[in-house]
Amino acid sequence: MKFETRAIHAGQEPDKLTGAVVVPIYQTSTYAQPEPGRDLGHEYTRTSNPTRDALQTCVAALEGAGHGVAFASGMAATSTVMTLFESGDHIISTDDVYGGTSRVFGTVFRGFGLHYTHVDTSDLEAVEAAIRPATKMIWVETPTNPLLVVSDLVKLAELAHAHGLLLAVDNTFMSPALQRPLELGADLVVHSTTKYIGGHSDVVGGFVATNDDDLADRLAFAQNAVGAVPGPFDSWLTLRGVKTLGIRMRAHEENAGQVARFLVEHSAVEDVLWPGLPEHPGHAVQQRQATGSGGVVSFRVRGNQEKACRVCSKTKLFVLAESLGGVESLIEHPAIMTHASVPAEQRRARGITDNLIRVSVGIEHIDDLLADLDQALLG
Ligand SMILES: *Cc1c(COP(=O)(O)O)cnc(C)c1O
Repeated sequence: MKFETRAIHAGQEPDKLTGAVVVPIYQTSTYAQPEPGRDLGHEYTRTSNPTRDALQTCVAALEGAGHGVAFASGMAATSTVMTLFESGDHIISTDDVYGGTSRVFGTVFRGFGLHYTHVDTSDLEAVEAAIRPATKMIWVETPTNPLLVVSDLVKLAELAHAHGLLLAVDNTFMSPALQRPLELGADLVVHSTTKYIGGHSDVVGGFVATNDDDLADRLAFAQNAVGAVPGPFDSWLTLRGVKTLGIRMRAHEENAGQVARFLVEHSAVEDVLWPGLPEHPGHAVQQRQATGSGGVVSFRVRGNQEKACRVCSKTKLFVLAESLGGVESLIEHPAIMTHASVPAEQRRARGITDNLIRVSVGIEHIDDLLADLDQALLG
């Protein structure tokens, strides 16, 4: 089955009891047992729930994975992956990693004795130099947020496996419609399904997919043991969103490309970061490992922070808000909003300058989006 077909049918056969075409919301915490110790496939919803099962089967199928586990948020997914490790273990992570990921690594899991080194994972030598005897995993986000730095997943998988390490990829920005890290050699794929997979800014969720049976068993155990599971209604909303993932990503990609090219030509814009542009340093790798560059575009305005803030406040269709990946276009100022927790010096060193703006390009009509950006940039 092709991707778009799997999105609509994988795990979503008509309900056996009633014939319901859409997977029902099994809003129940527990299940009747015909006799003690014998259940009909489910015993308690933290452990399993039919609506969540359908979501797990569907998203795993989209990532080309044999196994998938759903979580209450992207951070719950990331945190549960960390329970696979022990005090003293070392993990190498992308430096430009999602803010919440860097926070949970640096505070919560550091407190449990896990060690992290943040490096530019687009630089393979830097990654190799960071490997220690205690290293267990390389954690990669590509493209990164908000600078859209691209890391080569095939080369990172080779490097990881040559040293007996796992490669985990946070694939939130691409979604399986554009990039499937397991096919490129990764061991684990992690998602905030809050973004493109859910796609409608109406539900928070997370996901981990793998083809490794042992990792899958340990993750399923941890999902139940730790208990950071999504409820049946959230699972259902995510499943409803994912049906249109293929068609939405094509629309995001098309609009983002037009927005990026429009910004490149605009007199009020200094530079544009989007891997789909031929001049982007990660363009060739992006083309090799993904079928698109996604809907997030960052750019620097000519001028200072005040100018950037004015642009963010003047758009009418692009809503000034954090998050990304929904059908509606969003705009934000990373230095003040999503990346405020990164120390100013580090922000500047990385290139998260005060004139940087990030947009999540939605699937509205492109003419309206370009007109909105134009009036805000000239205002
Ligand atoms: C949003 C996001 C997360 C965290 O997901 P939540 O669902 O907000 O917990 C992790 N990684 C990336 C790349 C994200 O954009």
